[in-house]
Amino acid sequence: MSAKTIGIIGGGQLGRMLAMAAARLNFRTVILEPQADSPAAQLANEQIVAAYDDAAALAELAKRCDVVTYEFENVPVAAAEELARHVPVYPPPKALEMAQDRLTEKRFINGCGIPTARFHAVDSQVDLEKALADFGGQGVLKTRRLGYDGKGQRVYRSAADSAEGGFEALGGVPLILESFVSFEREISIIAARGLDGSIACYDPAENVHRDGILHTSTLPASISAATAAAAREAAEKILAALGYVGVIGIEFFALADGSLIANEMAPRVHNSGHWTEAACVVSQFEQHIRAVAGLPLGNPVRHSDCVMQNLIGDDILSVPDWLRRDEALVHLYGKTESRPGRKMGHVTQLRR
Ligand code: AMP
Repeated sequence: MSAKTIGIIGGGQLGRMLAMAAARLNFRTVILEPQADSPAAQLANEQIVAAYDDAAALAELAKRCDVVTYEFENVPVAAAEELARHVPVYPPPKALEMAQDRLTEKRFINGCGIPTARFHAVDSQVDLEKALADFGGQGVLKTRRLGYDGKGQRVYRSAADSAEGGFEALGGVPLILESFVSFEREISIIAARGLDGSIACYDPAENVHRDGILHTSTLPASISAATAAAAREAAEKILAALGYVGVIGIEFFALADGSLIANEMAPRVHNSGHWTEAACVVSQFEQHIRAVAGLPLGNPVRHSDCVMQNLIGDDILSVPDWLRRDEALVHLYGKTESRPGRKMGHVTQLRR
């Protein structure tokens, strides 16, 4: 095997599940994360406790690892680029750059020939008012950077919603106003590209969000074969355009006519792909490890229908019930403190 030690930037549950998958294939893992005893570091071989852009820590990570990957998209691009001068970094830093800013991301996705919601950059209150007027008073205002789980967003439902103070309310930072998409359902696709350029796509999942956080992913999604094929084609275009290596998650809005509008992409394993660990032989986590280590990709075929449900905050109290159910895979993240909105674990219930 070409790589023996895999560095993972970020110590959350995605890093934890990557470390588990890596261990099963005989790889060692090193986690770089500012918080000690993180969910990922609990299961990795080594940890470096430092900021993601700490130059000495990055140099140490490069020294200890044969390849470096990341589990969240807000790794500073400059840090990833500097690291890439010393050790292979997958997915390529360019993918981080395209995914970190919603404006850059939408332009990139459109450049791949894939539709998104219409959008305007909003850098002032005047911009906001002009953009809202263009969209008939409706739209979703989002911070361009660092938004997640619906944070840093505001919805304008009609021209009666006052725009006053809207720019400052999201912190006076660069924003984007997206046109409001009346979607029928939300789906996502988890896809992987190997070092040899081969591509493997899992079946699209149908996702339901609650309070901006993913609640369930259901397989199969209630979409036509043509819509599923469109999601796959979009993933293939994005992966090829980025010269990508690793797993990517891409979210779409599916409209009533079956057409797709891309919402966002995450250059990493994705919450809406957790079902793959229960319903596929090779999970998204193993697929990502295979890709970044230069191994052949696994067959992404799904052997069962299933529903993945996140355990958020006090949902963790339902674990004893889940453990009594047939064909339910329970996965907990090693977080000792539960807080509202905090992802504590997930379960995947097979349906056969
Ligand atoms: P995001 O952070 O972009 O994934 O947005 C969080 C959630 O807000 C999405 O999963 C949708 O349910 C909703 N949403 C985001 N953007 C739009 C939009 N342009 N039109 C309608 N709903 C949206």
